[in-house]
Amino acid sequence: MEVSLLEQKDNKVSFVFSDFKLSLVNAIRRSIINSVRTLAIEDVTVYKNTSTMYDEVLASRLGLIPLKTFPELGKSKKEFIFKLKEMGPKAVHASDLVPSDKDVVPVYGDMLIINLKEGEAIELEAKAVFGSGVDHAKFTPAHVFYHLYPKITIKNGAVKNAAKIASLCPVNILEGSGDTLAVKKGKLQECILCKACEDFAGEDVIKISSEQNKVVFALESWGQLEPKEILSEAIDLLAEEAEDIAKSI
Ligand code: SF4
Repeated sequence: MEVSLLEQKDNKVSFVFSDFKLSLVNAIRRSIINSVRTLAIEDVTVYKNTSTMYDEVLASRLGLIPLKTFPELGKSKKEFIFKLKEMGPKAVHASDLVPSDKDVVPVYGDMLIINLKEGEAIELEAKAVFGSGVDHAKFTPAHVFYHLYPKITIKNGAVKNAAKIASLCPVNILEGSGDTLAVKKGKLQECILCKACEDFAGEDVIKISSEQNKVVFALESWGQLEPKEILSEAIDLLAEEAEDIAKSI
């Protein structure tokens, strides 16, 4: 299998996998979604809530706040407490949660929890624990997917109204004028294989297919862990599982 880095930007990373087993790429994706452990708020004790938001809804919102997670913390199976005591009028944000550990804090402090009106108050204590996607989707560390590597064949002798064909591309990777149509330089892998261009112009003008044994693998972290940490943890977990299976045979 060959892996080449396509793009790395902020919380996003994408690779091209070549000469691979599709089942292995899918196993890595599933390991990320199901097995990599992150922190999330699980239990909430509400001491006071005079807002219009039910306790259950408030607790659900707190559970969806991504929390900075260090992989080594997971081995110690620790719990982390957050306190929140606010009085309206106030827009209460994730950054208002007071953590028991200065390193375990909300990734995005400006996430809105609730808008308290004049006289409304909340007071609560929230416990964050480690979990993985099989426990609840809130623990999943990233949005991850793969798609087949596109192959675009253009027969320029047959092209008419290239600009119109190019304008139909939803991801804007085609360029054309007169009877000359082309894929923009370095943009081929961004084709989403929707075939809008082929449906309009016909297969004899532009043919969309995919490469054999080649996929684009993309991952966007929700912020609890860095993309590199997510990938290496997912692969380690997969290797451990394979070893367990080998031992038990
Ligand atoms: S298949 Fe869709 S995304 Fe790909 S080049 Fe054609 S219009 Fe663009």
